[in-house]
Amino acid sequence: MSTDVQSINRLLPQTQCRECGYEGCLPYAQALSDGLAAVNLCAPGGETVMLDIAGLLRRPPLAPAKVQEKALAWIDEDACIGCTACIRACPVDAIMGASKLMHTVIRDECTGCRLCVAPCPVDCIHMQPVAADHLPLSRSSTEPEPRFAAAAHARQRYEWHSQRKERDAQARKAKLAEREAAAHAQFQTAP
Ligand code: SF4
Ligand code: SF4
Ligand code: SF4
Repeated sequence: MSTDVQSINRLLPQTQCRECGYEGCLPYAQALSDGLAAVNLCAPGGETVMLDIAGLLRRPPLAPAKVQEKALAWIDEDACIGCTACIRACPVDAIMGASKLMHTVIRDECTGCRLCVAPCPVDCIHMQPVAADHLPLSRSSTEPEPRFAAAAHARQRYEWHSQRKERDAQARKAKLAEREAAAHAQFQTAP
């Protein structure tokens, strides 16, 4: 990753919501660095982030392409059937629950990305508006400005989430290979 991409990525809110049309904040940062994306596509970032990007890249500012109200996810626990679809969709592991059990949102960790809403088969996840200056939890000790600290925290959680998903996928692959090898060995020794 070039330094430019890292510098641009640091300016983005790190919700990974894909409202910009890219698969997450880093791909949008990469497209900006390559000169392939407009500076005004980050809906959660709004005008503030657009101005940051335009300033860093020395490009003219543009009106934000999309305006998004800040909101946090809330689960109607009486309606939840415990299918775990929302847990799998949340990029920052902000939902707690287990199979066939009620699920709940950890509000401090929710970035408001909305990615859990569509996968819910019973439409029991609702986005509840919060103040425009609301920020998710931040634990970064290296970023002095609150919005960058919150973004750094969300990015860290997204990276942990991605690493865990990758480990799970590798473990599933290894298990499958083991089963296939056992089946093959059984076939070879069959009379
Ligand atoms: S936070 Fe902004 S840059 Fe990141 S995925 Fe969402 S819209 Fe794209
Ligand atoms: S709980 Fe939903 S809205 Fe909040 S971060 Fe997770 S997926 Fe996004
Ligand atoms: S997707 Fe909906 S029904 Fe499934 S666990 Fe999440 S909140 Fe419950």
